Amino acid sequence: MKPICPHCHSAHVLENTDTSMQSMSEHLCSPKLLVSLGVSVCKYYKINPMIGMVAGGAIATVINLAQQRLMQPPLLRATIMPRYLCSTCQHTFSI
Ligand SMILES: [Zn+2]
Repeated sequence: MKPICPHCHSAHVLENTDTSMQSMSEHLCSPKLLVSLGVSVCKYYKINPMIGMVAGGAIATVINLAQQRLMQPPLLRATIMPRYLCSTCQHTFSI
């Protein structure tokens, strides 16, 4: 059975398997990025970059733990859940 757009009731619906949200969150929470962010923040405020490295690493660890406990179930659900894009009104929806 083909899904129908809830917005305009058109049958011209494309399945959208875009996982950019997941890859974006992975990129945002990468420890490397957080460490470099901490170092650049410390450079900006003229603090010892070592403190920034340690702080960035600590934040990355906390985020990774939080992701494992809280973020993963909704993220997994978001990627598994099929998303559809209406080619008539460009409305995205999921069933
Ligand atoms: Zn539509």
